[in-house]
Amino acid sequence: MPDDLRDPKPVKIRCDACPVMCFIADGKSGACDRYANHAGELVRLDPLTVIQSGAKAVAFLDQSNNAQDWDGDVIQGGRDFVTAVGAGTTYPDYKPAPFIVSQEVDGIDMVTVVTEGIFSYCGVKVKIDTDRHIGEERAVVRAEGEAIGHVMTSEYGSKMLSLGGVEHLTGGSKKEGRATCDALLRLCNRERVEVTIDGGVTMVIEAGKAPIINGTPEKLMRVGCGSATIGMFAKQWFGHVDEVV
Ligand code: SF4
Repeated sequence: MPDDLRDPKPVKIRCDACPVMCFIADGKSGACDRYANHAGELVRLDPLTVIQSGAKAVAFLDQSNNAQDWDGDVIQGGRDFVTAVGAGTTYPDYKPAPFIVSQEVDGIDMVTVVTEGIFSYCGVKVKIDTDRHIGEERAVVRAEGEAIGHVMTSEYGSKMLSLGGVEHLTGGSKKEGRATCDALLRLCNRERVEVTIDGGVTMVIEAGKAPIINGTPEKLMRVGCGSATIGMFAKQWFGHVDEVV
């Protein structure tokens, strides 16, 4: 078939919302899954609920009569610019936050800066209050069957999990990254998350609640070693026992 009769190669568009600058083919999303190419147009995939509320927003680029491409000017001094922790966008970034929303709540000006920080480097350290063996140190912790972290060094008698981090969020498959991100978000929003540990237990963990280990809610655990028993709890023992050894 002559070249000029072949389907034209689909044009990729370039997202410039962060320094990764993905080239995105039609029907695909960029590396962060936030932006996609929909019939040649760059579209957002996640709703920004603050924006949808109708609150006044400052667009990253002027979209109206003065529409323009970003010229590399970091602060665009000709317009209001919020400087604050979190006012940048993705790390390591040189652009202002793409969405800045202001609204008045009970007579107070509120400014919300949506930083759009990608989750790549985020992690969570989870303290499991139990005396039980949950798995060997370094054992892989899984959610939805995907590796999301590992068992790390115990601290003060509690078992500790290290979850997330760049290797699980972006270093593995997309499924692994999504399962990791989902587990971290749910834990940080105080929701229940079920995890399994390779060669160890299945646990339901939730911030502020005792862990449920292999179906049994944990009730008690030792709180310290012998010296802690005397050094920290002498007052509580006093009057109940003659001697603590
Ligand atoms: S915002 Fe997402 S899609 Fe856009 S360049 Fe960055 S990683 Fe790629």
